[in-house]
Amino acid sequence: MIHDEFDRLHLWHPYTSTHTPLPTYKVREAHGATLTLDDGTELIDGMSSWWCVIHGYNHPVLNEAAKRQIDKMSHVMFGGITHDPAIELGKLLLRILPPSMEHIFYADSGSVATEVAMKMAVQAHDNPRKTNFATIRSGYHGDTWNAMSVCDPVTGMHGAFGPALPIRHFAPSPQCRFGDTWDPADFEPMRKLIHDKADELAAVILEPIVQGAGGMRFYHPQYLRELRKECDANNVLLIFDEIATGFGRTGKLFAWEHAGVEPDIMLIGKAITGGFMTFAAVATSHRVADMISNSQSGCIMHGPTFMGNPLACAVAVASTELLLSQPWQQRINEIEAIMNEELAPAREMDTVEEVRVLGGIGVVQTKEPVDLAVFQKRCVAEGVWIRPFGKNAYIMPPYMAVTDEQVRKLCKALIKCLS
Ligand SMILES: *Cc1c(COP(=O)(O)O)cnc(C)c1O
Repeated sequence: MIHDEFDRLHLWHPYTSTHTPLPTYKVREAHGATLTLDDGTELIDGMSSWWCVIHGYNHPVLNEAAKRQIDKMSHVMFGGITHDPAIELGKLLLRILPPSMEHIFYADSGSVATEVAMKMAVQAHDNPRKTNFATIRSGYHGDTWNAMSVCDPVTGMHGAFGPALPIRHFAPSPQCRFGDTWDPADFEPMRKLIHDKADELAAVILEPIVQGAGGMRFYHPQYLRELRKECDANNVLLIFDEIATGFGRTGKLFAWEHAGVEPDIMLIGKAITGGFMTFAAVATSHRVADMISNSQSGCIMHGPTFMGNPLACAVAVASTELLLSQPWQQRINEIEAIMNEELAPAREMDTVEEVRVLGGIGVVQTKEPVDLAVFQKRCVAEGVWIRPFGKNAYIMPPYMAVTDEQVRKLCKALIKCLS
């Protein structure tokens, strides 16, 4: 059976009601870019399990790295103890992160990384008045308390918590699209916000270039250059959340490279283990680390139980080395070209607002919200796995595993299911 009664009655799935849970599909196994359902139905994966499975499922190199590490130790505490997987991963990350990044904090998930980054910013200023944050609308930074507070208050899915969340400052999301001509007026609301609230701002946090789960929007790199200048001029730190954009998804290894400006604190997660298991990291510059270490508390006030988990570190090393050993950028450019070609017909549909493609991300924005239950059923019947939210139906396949033919099939199925 591809649906399970116990599951329906007793297991929460993300953002679901126990009264009217949408059907869940039981996956038996997954290989490459294919998910196999319990009844043998094969689906081409268009989601990379939410951005993370970049090499495809069951990759022998990642499996092998995990097995080797398990035979040594799958976990050991990081307080007072270190190990080769953590050190190797640190060395590797410092080679590929922005040059000013020097210190790494390993976290257990993206949301936790967001919490840690925000705590770092507050600790760095060490000033009871500079403890708030600014961000842009349509952002998404995770589901924990502080992460929720900087998600879009409407599309960020956390409206229910309104009064319970700390009040942050929101600028409109950038209107100037990636690839358009820059319009300096686009940055003015954020410039004013930072200028007016500088006394209370610890940092600005945002997703560079691609806003993911809060809207699937691609904006102009100049916005980040202006933002960097304005943050510097007002003693406000800049946090880039690259949890979704990292490891090649946008066509650059990390999205900051589109703009050429470095953050003070950078978050990575999701694809860091190639989607093998949960893990994330927060990187900071020497300057920020110094500010934290010079603060009254004198040290970073965070340390989760599973910090620096050796199994996750070992797989992250294997995944990152595997990515760098292949012509990943060429592959992502090819996939981008195919999606541009195949999704173009959707522009003519009267139910479609806009089609956008960047790197390994193809978005068809509809005029009305997609009926998820109906859409999902049709997709499965077409042999693909695509899961829209709201008005955004999008494909982001496992770029290092998917074939040209599979990308074409995903695009064609997406259009068919929307029509
Ligand atoms: C997914 C995501 C997070 C949260 O990561 P989790 O591992 O789900 O906690 C944070 N920021 C961005 C940009 C994300 O896409």
